[in-house]
Amino acid sequence: MRILVLSVSLVLAACASAPSAPVGQGEHSHDVSTEGIAPAWDAARIDPILARTQRLHLAADLSALTPGEQTAVRELIAAGERMHLLYIEQRHPAGRAAAAYLEAHPELRGERDLFRLSAGPIVTTLDNTREPFLTVARETPARNIYPAGVTRETMDAFIAANPARRATLLDDRTVVVDATDENRAHALMVLDHHPVLDTLHPGLRARLQSEQTYLALPYSVAYAHDILFISARLNAAADAVEAGDAAFARYLRLRARDLLADDYEGGDAAWVTGDFTGNLNAQIGAYETYDDAMYGVKTFFSLSLLVRDRARSAELQEALGDIQRVEDALPYTSDREVRSDIPVGVYNIVADFGQARGTNTATILPNEAYLARQYGRTILMRGNILLNEELFEETHRAFAAAVIDAQGDDLTPEGGFYRTLWHEIGHYLGVDQTADGRDLDAALEDTADLLEEMKADLVSLTSARILNQRGRISDAQLRGIYASGIRRVLQKNRPRREQPYQTMQLIQWNWYLEHGALRFENGRLRIDYRRYPDAVTGLLREVLAIQRAGDRARANAFVERWTQWRPDLHEVIATRMRESERNRFTIVTYQALDGPAQSPQ
Ligand SMILES: [Zn+2]
Repeated sequence: MRILVLSVSLVLAACASAPSAPVGQGEHSHDVSTEGIAPAWDAARIDPILARTQRLHLAADLSALTPGEQTAVRELIAAGERMHLLYIEQRHPAGRAAAAYLEAHPELRGERDLFRLSAGPIVTTLDNTREPFLTVARETPARNIYPAGVTRETMDAFIAANPARRATLLDDRTVVVDATDENRAHALMVLDHHPVLDTLHPGLRARLQSEQTYLALPYSVAYAHDILFISARLNAAADAVEAGDAAFARYLRLRARDLLADDYEGGDAAWVTGDFTGNLNAQIGAYETYDDAMYGVKTFFSLSLLVRDRARSAELQEALGDIQRVEDALPYTSDREVRSDIPVGVYNIVADFGQARGTNTATILPNEAYLARQYGRTILMRGNILLNEELFEETHRAFAAAVIDAQGDDLTPEGGFYRTLWHEIGHYLGVDQTADGRDLDAALEDTADLLEEMKADLVSLTSARILNQRGRISDAQLRGIYASGIRRVLQKNRPRREQPYQTMQLIQWNWYLEHGALRFENGRLRIDYRRYPDAVTGLLREVLAIQRAGDRARANAFVERWTQWRPDLHEVIATRMRESERNRFTIVTYQALDGPAQSPQ
C-alpha cells in the first residue's frame, strides 16, 4: 500500500515549476532532515490500536468524467498531496520530517499505518490520550502555528499590552513566529523573491521590518514554495475544465489567487454562487480551526476532491421547495424569508487531503459570518461516507446495544443520510443573529457552536416531520430519520464541556428522557415515537430563544442544567455501546490516490 503522499517525482516537479526558490519554513520537503527520528513504540503498543482500526477504501465512479475533467483530477490530486503535507507541518514541528522518514522506511508498516491514521507522528490511544509513536516532541497547544513553547498566558499578556497586534497575530491565516533576525530576514527574502506576494499583502513588508517579539506571517509567505506549487496546479486544472465547465474553471482560478493573497472572498463567492455544470467540485484551502488548540482561530489546510451524484442532487433540489414551510413551522416568532436556491449537492469523495481526510459526512462553508451573509454557504453532502455499509454497521451495533430489541432495526443508512442533509440545511434556518443585531458567535462565545449545532439537529428532525406531512417521505422513512436522531445523541463516554458536539448531544439525550421521548427500561432505552415530535419542538423553542437573547450566562446555565450524567443510566447505556464496539478508528484510502484496495494483512 502506498502510504505517504510525497513521491520523488512530485518534489522534482515542484522545484521545476516554482520560480527561483528561497528556503522557507520546511517548505523543501527533500531538504527536511530526518535525523534523530526513529520508532518510539514496540508492537505491543502499535498493534492494539491497529486491531481497532478499520480500513475504508473509497472508489468513486469516475466513468462520467470528460477528458478535461480527468486532467483536472490529476492536477487537483497533486495540489491535494501538497496540501496534505502542509497540514502535517502545521500540526507538529517535526511532522514533515516524520513524513519523509517514513517515506524512506517502507518496512515500518505499523508506524506508517499510524501516521496515515493520524496525519502526523502523534496518535490518539485507546485511552484517549495523545502520544508520539516516533521519537519526536510531545504535542503542545502551540502546534506548529505559534512559536514553540509559547502558552496562551504569554500570548494573552502580549496581546493585552499590544492590542493593535491582535488582528494579525490572531488572523485565521497567519503563522506566528518569534521575531528573530533570522525569521525576519527570511520572510523579507520571500517577498523579494516572489513580488506577487509583496503586491498582494499591502503593508506586510513594513510590518515585518518593524514589529518586535512576534511576527505574523501570512500562510502564503510562511509556506511560499508549497502555495505557489498548489496555485499553479489549480490554474492548470482550470485550463483543463475551461471548455466544459467555465464556472468551475473561474472558481479554480480565483482560488489559485486567493491562496497567494490569504483572502478567500473571491473564490468563496464563485464557489458558493457558481453554477457548476460539470461533474467535479472541490473544497480547497484552509478553513477549519479545530486543530488550533490555543485560540481556535488558525485554519488548517485541506482539499476535498468530489464527483457529483447527479440523481441524488436533483432529488435534493426538489425537496428544497419546502424550505420556507420548514422555516415557518419553527417555534419562534419571525417573518424571515429564506432562499430556496441553497447550493447543496450530493457528491462522492474522489480523495480527501489534510484536515478534510477522514469520515466527515458533510461540509458547509465558508464559516465567516460576513461571507455567509453576503454569498450564502455551499453544502457538500458526502454520499459515499453517509451511505457506507461498513460505517453503518459500526453505528448500528452501538444503536442496537442501547435500545430495546424491538427497535434495534429502526436505524437505516438512509435515515442517517436525510437527517444529516437537513442538519446542514438547518444551519440556514432559524435565528441567525441576536434580537439586538449581534453575531451569535460574538454574543455567546464558547457556547455559540454548541447551540448552533443543536439548532441544526432539531431543525432537521422538524423538517422530517413536515416532509412527512407533505407526503414527500413515508412513515417508515420518518421513523428511520427519528431513530438516527436518537443514535446521534447517545454517548459512549461522558462528554467534556469543551466538546461542543458531544455536549449538545447529551443535552438532547437528557431532554428526551425528561419529556418522555425516551424511557429507560431494564438497562435499555425505549423510543416513544409519539412523544418525540413535541420533545423536539420544546427543545428547539428553548434553543432559538437563547440564541435570540444572545445571553451567555443564560446559555451556560442551560447547558449546566441539562448535562447531568448518571452512573445508573447514562453510564449503563454507554458501557453497552462501548462493548458493542469493534472499530474505534478508520484509515481511509482512495482508489484515485492509493490504487485498488489491498486485502487486509
Ligand atoms: Zn452542523
